[in-house]
This record gives sequence, C-alpha cells and structure tokens, in this order.
Amino acid sequence: MQEDQRVFDVAIVGGGIGGTMLGAVLARHGVRVLLLEGSGHPRFAIGESTVPETTFGLRVLARRYDVPEIEHLATHGALRRHVSSNCGVKRNFSFVYHREGEPTRPDECTQYPTWGPPLGPDSHYFRQDVDAHMFHVAVSYGVTAHTHTLVDDVKFEEDGATLVTRDRGSFRASYVVDAGGMRAVLPERLGLRQEPPYRTRSRTIFTHMVDVRPFDRVAPPRAEHGMPSPFSQGTLHHMFKGGWFWVIPFDNHSTSTSELCSVGVNLDLDQYPRPDDVPAEEEFWRHVRRFPSVARQFERARSVRPYVSTDRTQFASQKVVGDRWCLLPHASDFIDPLFSSGLAVTVMALNALGHRLIEAVRRNDFDTARFAYLDHWTKRMFRFYDDLVSCSYVSFDDFELWNAWNRVWTITTLYGTNAQNQAAVAFDRTGDPAGFDALELPPYRGLQGVDNPWVERLFDQARDAVLAYRAGESTKERTVARIYELLRESELCPSVWGTLDPQDRCPAGVFTLWPLMRILLWGKFRSPRHVRGSYFTGGGRMVGKEAVQAYTGAVRAGGSQVHQTVRDMWVNWNGDWTRRAEPRK
Ligand SMILES: Cc1cc2nc3c(=O)[nH]c(=O)nc-3n(C[C@H](O)[C@H](O)[C@H](O)COP(=O)(O)OP(=O)(O)OC[C@H]3O[C@@H](n4cnc5c(N)ncnc54)[C@H](O)[C@@H]3O)c2cc1C
Repeated sequence: MQEDQRVFDVAIVGGGIGGTMLGAVLARHGVRVLLLEGSGHPRFAIGESTVPETTFGLRVLARRYDVPEIEHLATHGALRRHVSSNCGVKRNFSFVYHREGEPTRPDECTQYPTWGPPLGPDSHYFRQDVDAHMFHVAVSYGVTAHTHTLVDDVKFEEDGATLVTRDRGSFRASYVVDAGGMRAVLPERLGLRQEPPYRTRSRTIFTHMVDVRPFDRVAPPRAEHGMPSPFSQGTLHHMFKGGWFWVIPFDNHSTSTSELCSVGVNLDLDQYPRPDDVPAEEEFWRHVRRFPSVARQFERARSVRPYVSTDRTQFASQKVVGDRWCLLPHASDFIDPLFSSGLAVTVMALNALGHRLIEAVRRNDFDTARFAYLDHWTKRMFRFYDDLVSCSYVSFDDFELWNAWNRVWTITTLYGTNAQNQAAVAFDRTGDPAGFDALELPPYRGLQGVDNPWVERLFDQARDAVLAYRAGESTKERTVARIYELLRESELCPSVWGTLDPQDRCPAGVFTLWPLMRILLWGKFRSPRHVRGSYFTGGGRMVGKEAVQAYTGAVRAGGSQVHQTVRDMWVNWNGDWTRRAEPRK
C-alpha cells in the first residue's frame, strides 16, 4: 500500500450506519476519509425502528451536506425504491397493555401514527441492507474503506493519531471518530467507560423470527379498540408491569420481499434479574406465555437467528469528545430501545459534527473547544431519554398512568420534529444551507424540544410527578391528574388534538395531509405566544411540492405504489395486512 493511502484527514472506526453516513458527508466536502470496519457487509445490526426525529434529521443531513442518498432513508417509499424492499413500513407506534393471564382489553392501547407521505411514513430498517447500501454510498463519494479491518488500538500524538489494525498495518489521521457502537475501541483504550449514571436499569433478549402473526388478527376488532392505523403496520409495543416487548415486522407491506420480524423483550433488571441457569430462548418464551394475546401472536413463530440476551443495556462514557477524537452517540452511551432514540441522537450528532469537522480540516485546527457542543448536547439527550424511559417503566404499573405519561412524549416529539422541519422549510425558501445553523441556536438545539423552556418545564414537572408516585409520595390518581393539569397549563397541546381527553387514546390523530394542515394552521394562527413565530411558521408550500415529488416518484416505480402513495396521503388505515398469508401450519 502506498504511503499516501495510509495518511488521512479523518479516520472513522466502524462502518455501520453512523460511520458510513459521516464518511459520505465529509468526503462530499473534500475531506480525505478513512473508514475501517471490523466485520464485512452485509452483517447483522440492531437498531431497526425509526422515529420522526430520525427521519426529519436525515432530511436535514442530506440537504445540508448535499448527499441526496441519505434522504433515501428518510421515508419508507424512497427506502423501498432506492435501498431495499426487505425493510418494513412504520405507520405508527402502538402500545398495547397486558395483564398476566388475561387477553388484552380493547380500551387499553394507545397509538401515535407517524407522518403520511410526503414526509413519511417511517421505516423498519433491515439494517444489514441499509448499512451495506450506505457503505457503498460512502465509497462512491471517495471514502477509502476497508472491511474486515479491526482497529485494535489508537495512539494519539500532538498532530494526529495512529490507528493500529489487527491485519492491515497502521494508518495515520489528523482526527479520529469512533463509530464503533457499544464495543467501540476508544472508550476502552482511553478508560472512558463509567457506571451508567442513569435511572433506567433494563436488559434485553432479542432475535429475528418468521411466522409472527399480524397483531390485527389477534387484537379485539378495530370497532372496539378504535385505533386509526393497523397495529401490524408499525412498531408494536406490548407493555406489562416491569417490561415490554417490541415487534418490528419487515414483511408488513404489499411489496415487501422479507418474511422476517424483529422481536425482543426488555425487562426491568430489579424486577427481573437475569437468571443464571435459564437459556435466553427459554426465558423469552416464558414471558410470551404469561400474556395470552402475545402468546397467540407468536403461536407459530420461529426464530431464524440465535437469541441475544444482554446484561444491563445501559452503558456510558465520561465524555464524548477529547483531543483529536470524538465518539458517535452509540459508542458513547445507550439507554434502552424504547422510543427508538438511538438513531435519532446519532443523526443529530452527525448534523452537528459534519460542518465542525469540514471546517477543522480546512483550517487544520482541531481544537477540542470546537467540538464541545457535541459533548453537551449528546449527553443532554441521553439524560432526557433516561428520564423518558425510566418514567415509562414506572408507568407500566398501570394503563391510566401510561395513558397520561405518554402524552407528554407526544408533545415533546411534536416540537422536536417541528424544529427540524422549520430548518428544512427555511432551506426550501432560500436554498441556503446556512439556514440549518438555526438548529444549533435556542430554542431548537437537541431533540424533543428540550431547548425550549416551556417544553422543558412541562417535561421536568411531569417527570417529577411520576417519580413522586414511584417514591410512594403520590397516588396513581393524583399523578395522572397532575400530568393532565401540566399539559393543560403548558398550552403546548394543539387544540386540534385530543391530548387533554383521557378517552382519546390516539390524541395526536393521524398525520395525513388534511390533519397536518390543521396543525400548521393552529400553530401559525391560534397557538399561544410562546409557540407562535418560533414553530409552525410555514411548511404548506414545501409539503405540497414534496407531495408532487412523492407522487411522481411512485409513478416512476409503477402500478400499486401510485395508488398506495396517494391513499396514504389521505388515510392512515388500510387492509394491506389482510392480504398477507397466514403463518404456515
Ligand atoms: C437492543 C437494542 C435495540 C435498539 N433498537 C433501536 C431502535 O429500534 N431504533 C433506534 O433508533 N436505535 C436502536 N438502538 C440503537 C442503535 O442500535 C444504534 O443507535 C445504531 O446502531 C448506531 O449506529 P452506529 O453505526 O453508530 O453503530 P453500530 O450500528 O453499532 O455499528 C458499529 C460498527 O462498528 C464496527 N466496529 C466496532 N468496533 C470496531 C473496531 N475496533 N474496528 C473496526 N470496526 C469496529 C462494528 O463491526 C459495527 O459494524 C438499539 C440498540 C440496542 C442495543
């Protein structure tokens, strides 16, 4: 290998979804990037469910850095056309409550639909396809990439770092980004790992299966449960005291080429310590059998990969950036799969890291202070998700408590997503990527609206109410009443939503075109002073333009996709899942 193929501006350790997107962004702007991946592609990876803040963040990333391939991951339609038909559609987050030994009750479920076309729907990434695709995109932009190249050590010197690989010798770079996920090399080598300072204490058992029934065939009829979007066309959460299952189908749309479904169970460590003598598979099925409706959904299901059983899922690092290095979020910390925060935080970090690194390379100035923003906001988001998740585990005690607490998340998600959309709308108007700088100014920093004092206050006070319940200082009834009171007082809930009505278990309604316009109109003309002008200032024109683009994209893809795209713009319910074959006998 020639000497100039061993010296780079930036070395990225880890060629997963995070490392490859960063590589593409940097190479697109002339940075000489080395990407080292310890395994090969395709390879299994976990982290399959997106949320609106992930997909809106991907749109921002793609447009800000002019890498259109990243936007192909932002909506299910584009993903299916450009990346892989093995991915699933995510039209909703559904949460179904279970009591041991009883079938689920029709009025004990909640739902939060994702956005319809053109801004959605969200996706279930079949990660081996998505990551392999992004790896090739990175290479196509000029990244020098090596697979099967494990980085064993990184040695820092004054003007850069030497990466020592197991089988391919050493490489030099001015700056190192560790995108190695939970087993990343830098936290270990630099002694950064620490006892997770988080309240959440959970563990996970997961696998991929075939022959998982669509839950719509098992659940009470729609006329009884009243949810507007099919359970089987989204990420389904089966909640029970002290835990929850995820069901993430990849086979849930009419053009899917997959028969797989990702499943996992997450357990509060204190209520369900990890047994020494029970194999992962047996423990998984023990929990399935406790809940008759879950057992019916999995009646014929079989795993197609070994079960993975983790110890405590949470991990943490003392810091995210240092002298000539930076950790991507999943190399730094993790909370829990609930609310699918991993990719959202990763995309947030990529947006903030991209321009800092491009500028650092141009100026040959890698001063740590330049990257301090990442340290602060990555850690801030992990603290937020720790609060959100740990209070959710508490709320699994009782359906009414969950029904109240999860409304707070629908509001934080609304403002977090809208902040990203504001930036996209500004870019649409001016074509100037500098418009995205607003995302690093108050009140838009971070995710989930945490930078907005009103959103932050609502969240913190509702969290404190749940914690008081957990500490035995408040009853369930008082806690529930307090959360609704806080929601009302905040004035953050759109009046076109049913957030303040406990009977409305899909309080955000659906995000098809007409309801979307109603929220925009509320935000623009009827919202309180602390919302108006900062959020919902536009978007109608951009949505209209993108609706036409989504339509023409579907026309090019042909037949059923045109019908489906137009249908999904206006209605959320469909019978696609009824056309899927029943599991084999
Ligand atoms: C149980 C579980 C469920 C999750 N579910 C979700 C979800 O539904 N939605 C969501 O948004 N997020 C979820 N996450 C988080 C999600 O997995 C991560 O946010 C995401 O995978 C981060 O991508 P990445 O590319 O940074 O890291 P990874 O996907 O972990 O990729 C890291 C890559 O680095 C390589 N690597 C590691 N060390 C080295 C080395 N020394 N040398 C060379 N290469 C190396 C690995 O081989 C790997 O390919 C979940 C996480 C867990 C643990």
